[in-house]
Amino acid sequence: MLDWFSKTEVDARTTMLTEPFVHDFVRANIWHFSGRDADLLVDTGMGICPLAPRIETPAGKPLLVVATHIHLDHVGSLHEFPLRAGPSMSATTFETMDPEVTYAYMFHTLEGAVSKLPQPGWKAADYRIPPAPLTRTLDEGDVVDLGDRQFRVLHLPGHSPDSIALFDESDGLFFAGDAIYDAMLIDDLPDSDRAAYRRTMLRLLDLPVRIGHGGHGPSFDGKRMREIALAYLSRTDGI
Ligand SMILES: [Zn+2]
Repeated sequence: MLDWFSKTEVDARTTMLTEPFVHDFVRANIWHFSGRDADLLVDTGMGICPLAPRIETPAGKPLLVVATHIHLDHVGSLHEFPLRAGPSMSATTFETMDPEVTYAYMFHTLEGAVSKLPQPGWKAADYRIPPAPLTRTLDEGDVVDLGDRQFRVLHLPGHSPDSIALFDESDGLFFAGDAIYDAMLIDDLPDSDRAAYRRTMLRLLDLPVRIGHGGHGPSFDGKRMREIALAYLSRTDGI
């Protein structure tokens, strides 16, 4: 059977999964981080194939799943998990997964949506994201606590209005979602806001990041993150 996900051990506590056979527009990173009292899963991919069986956690240990924003490539498998957190701003849409808001409709007609079929007869036009009502809503300043690690929720709009990220202030570990990542930043979706994205970049310039794991592309250190933010600010200057 086709292994839909690739899995990379990033360090002793961090694993990254992605979907190599989906179009790179919607090939997002899925981060599994092991905490003392609970594990954290940041984003859940497209939901084309079941993700939950690929996430291994010790028996009885809770898995807190955080969706960084409600775009299709981050929330597809959210419904498979019992503990679902996400931005409060989008809470009602998580109950419906309206394809106009998740942009699932764009995938229906995407040329080269997948490079291998997940099952014989699979069609992008049939793609649907099941509703995944949030069991916890997150706002700026909230804390996601794994016992030995605490992640502060940052609201970083621009790519989308609801974009949130998780920052461990004690050691500079940053799960950035699509607020910032080391690849082409998407700021021209119907719900993108360039002025807000610029404010987000200005805020990120001052964030003491040691290592950032983004929603797309390779991980980055603080220096690289500031380069990405400054490049965005100069590219959009005067727009
Ligand atoms: Zn997105």
